[in-house]
Amino acid sequence: MLQIEHFIGGKKFTGNSQRVSKVFNPATGEQSASVKLASTSDVNKAVESAQKAFEGWANKPPLQRARVMFKFKELIEKNSDELTKFIVSEHGKVYEDAKGSLTRGLEVVEYACGIPQILKGEFTENVGTNVDSWSIRQPLGVCAGITPFNFPAMVPMWMFPMAIACGNTFILKPSEKDPSCSMRLAELFLEAGLPEGVFNIVNGDKEAVDALISNKNVAAISFVGSTPIAKYIYENCAKNEKRVQALGGAKNHCVVMPDCDLDQAVDGLIGAAYGSAGERCMAQSVAVAVGEIGDKLVEKLSKKVEALKVGSGMDKNSEMGPLITKEHLHKVKSYVDIGEKEGAKLVVDGRNLKVKGYEKGYYIGGCLFDQVTKDMKIYKEEIFGPVLSVVRVKNFDEALKLVNDHEFGNGASIFTRDGNAGRTFSSKAKIGMIGVNIPIPVPMAFHSFGGWKRSMFGDQHMHGPEGVRFYTKLKTITSRWPSGKKLGAEFVMPTMK
Ligand code: NAD
Repeated sequence: MLQIEHFIGGKKFTGNSQRVSKVFNPATGEQSASVKLASTSDVNKAVESAQKAFEGWANKPPLQRARVMFKFKELIEKNSDELTKFIVSEHGKVYEDAKGSLTRGLEVVEYACGIPQILKGEFTENVGTNVDSWSIRQPLGVCAGITPFNFPAMVPMWMFPMAIACGNTFILKPSEKDPSCSMRLAELFLEAGLPEGVFNIVNGDKEAVDALISNKNVAAISFVGSTPIAKYIYENCAKNEKRVQALGGAKNHCVVMPDCDLDQAVDGLIGAAYGSAGERCMAQSVAVAVGEIGDKLVEKLSKKVEALKVGSGMDKNSEMGPLITKEHLHKVKSYVDIGEKEGAKLVVDGRNLKVKGYEKGYYIGGCLFDQVTKDMKIYKEEIFGPVLSVVRVKNFDEALKLVNDHEFGNGASIFTRDGNAGRTFSSKAKIGMIGVNIPIPVPMAFHSFGGWKRSMFGDQHMHGPEGVRFYTKLKTITSRWPSGKKLGAEFVMPTMK
């Protein structure tokens, strides 16, 4: 059985922990590997290695760091099939979707290739007579990232390419459910010329996470995962005086206006609700049917949900793969049971789906609820599976209020032909990422990704300009050279006269 270890100081590292976790192929239900769960002392080794590498890397001119990034980009492209297969075999999503998620991660590497331009500071000549002032952004030191199971390449790549391009060293703690893709990325980064110790991986669970939070030599932590853990990370990083960005769970609404192109909205919703079996933080899990469109929307959706092709992620015909684990499958099915008990109308029931030849895989078919109301658990909570709830409202104002009253604020979309509705929604929705006739409004690498309300704790979003701000600290220098006036000591605040 394959044993997945850690990656510290440019090499595989076994560590002293005896604890392991099982990694499964969700398509078959078979165990494919076991992964080491780091002890505190294993994590401390990674921090030491990252600390040792920091000065040399931070002092490298940004252009040299960019050259490593360019080479890393090439290697990811060259090895994209292997990396994609790691995602499919440990997460379960279908091959083309997995490849797309790798590409979205690669785009952050491409953005990071521009680091010499991105890090250019600001300069003002003569802020006072013969006095100049300029601002620069310097790296923080050792940064760490803790990531969820649903995007084993993309989410880590929201973090480490930015942190490293900015001159930091990095420790990644990937999800213990699908760690192989990150391990291969670390090898490729080394091959690209990254010095040993700049990028390290510790595999593990809560013990490793707590060791990162409590280590005083870790300067900043980026987290993506569920809301209760995001809150825990945020609070404990603050207690330990660390910079933190902690992205949490979601319940994304798609408002379907009566004037929209209904077929476009339905296609958008099907992809956004059932793609990656709903295991996306930007999945659309609530369709808000405005006015008279409800019946037609449910009729069109139900036909497409019933026709979804569910199967192994490696099967070219599959549109939707299995869920990540048996436990998660059980949790999603029990949400469907709860929805029925709460009185929602189950229009399509995927609970009993079996995939021929893959009887032990963690499959569920698409599920569709109609007549869902805002007091129901299936509306309030994140299910993180292929379950779409239709909520019916009278008008646009009621739809907007529904979106704004929800505790989560990651993404939301509106489908409409009315410019005023689209613009008002963009302006007034209390949501971090908005789509207008776009079902999954995930910002590109050169913009920043992040939610509002209980979908994110902290201030700076990920990648793009906010990613650069998060991984650097600002320094402002004011200087005068001896040829300037010599006035003697001054005891009052200098002001421009
Ligand atoms: P999770 O919160 O269970 O785990 C995330 C990470 O935290 C993992 O690395 C895990 O090992 C670690 N962890 C788990 N329990 C911990 C604990 N008690 N103490 C410390 N660390 C702990 O999330 P998941 O199930 O892997 O991922 C799914 C969740 O991630 C969903 O809620 C989804 O919405 C969210 N997510 C959010 C975004 C976003 O951008 N907002 C993106 C992707 C996923």
